[in-house]
Amino acid sequence: TDAVLEIRGLNVDYGLGDQAVHAIRDVNLTLHRGEVLGLAGESGSGKSTLAYGMTRLLPPPGVVAGGEVLYHGEDGPVDVLRMTHAQLRAFRWAQTAIVFQGAMNSLNPVHRISTQLTDVIKAHRPGMTAAARLDRARELLHLVGIAADRLDSYPHQLSGGMRQRVMIGMALALEPKVVIMDEPTTALDVVVQRQILRQLVELRERLGFSVVFITHDLSLLVEFSDRIAIMYGGRIVEEANSAELYRDPRHPYSAGLLNSFPALRGPKRELTGIPGSPPDLRAMPPGCSFHPRCPHAMERCGAEVPVLGVPLDHVGPDRTAACWLHPVHDNGL
Ligand code: ATP
Ligand code: MG
Repeated sequence: TDAVLEIRGLNVDYGLGDQAVHAIRDVNLTLHRGEVLGLAGESGSGKSTLAYGMTRLLPPPGVVAGGEVLYHGEDGPVDVLRMTHAQLRAFRWAQTAIVFQGAMNSLNPVHRISTQLTDVIKAHRPGMTAAARLDRARELLHLVGIAADRLDSYPHQLSGGMRQRVMIGMALALEPKVVIMDEPTTALDVVVQRQILRQLVELRERLGFSVVFITHDLSLLVEFSDRIAIMYGGRIVEEANSAELYRDPRHPYSAGLLNSFPALRGPKRELTGIPGSPPDLRAMPPGCSFHPRCPHAMERCGAEVPVLGVPLDHVGPDRTAACWLHPVHDNGL
């Protein structure tokens, strides 16, 4: 297999027992080596929860209620959800690095960029000399297109986009196999988001890691990612390669999302957006959770939850859509 991360049957709740809100439901998703996988969905669809859940960084009251996240490292597959703390420490940064939503504000304001970069290196490569660490920090800044003289800057002396790049540089410090980037929806403008994503894609080609890029702006993903997974109400409702998703979205929600953002390339679409609002996790509609907003809803949609087939085993360009509009064999059911 060329999978680097395989999420199987992942469920994440906020709270316990009767109070539990099911924020991630039965998510199956595979990240292949060297690919850029885009994760899109409206605010509240569960994108960040999925990223935190799969890396065991869920803040309380978040709990993983089931599933596994297989990381295929050099020693064979390991379930991230069952790693010991020592294994986790090595896994984070060194194997999988996350750049959080709002990460550019998580740089320490009282330390120079050089200190923050070398501290990350020091923590994981204690054998390296101070001079070698500083060289590496310089190299990392160069990688993300920041001049070496910025090493002496404090975070407030950098623009938001530059701070975001520093965070990417930091994420790449230990040459991880996977970089997860949870893009802030408001903090950076679209132009800066595009620059950052483009840079990440270039680095991916040079350094050969895989990327999970999270955004609500599907047009960015269409341009830069290899595959796209669309989330709605805590589930993945469609998964396809980017070009196919753009050309022929199978889930009406994906079609709605595509029509919510101006296309950067290709034929112009009329922007219509999606009427209504995302579902309340505490009161999910029966059947397909999108059916109250869906222009194509049928009787069955309000009664039965459409589930994705068995994408776990899929290889190649298969695509899946959890929608009753499509014949069952399409979903692999
Ligand atoms: P955005 O695009 O705004 O970042 P998102 O897709 O990342 O949204 P999440 O932040 O993962 O969405 O939230 C998913 C759901 O989980 C939302 O309904 C949210 O209200 C709920 N949620 C998130 N954090 C908590 C929490 N600490 N306690 C309870 N519910 C939470
Ligand atoms: Mg989020």
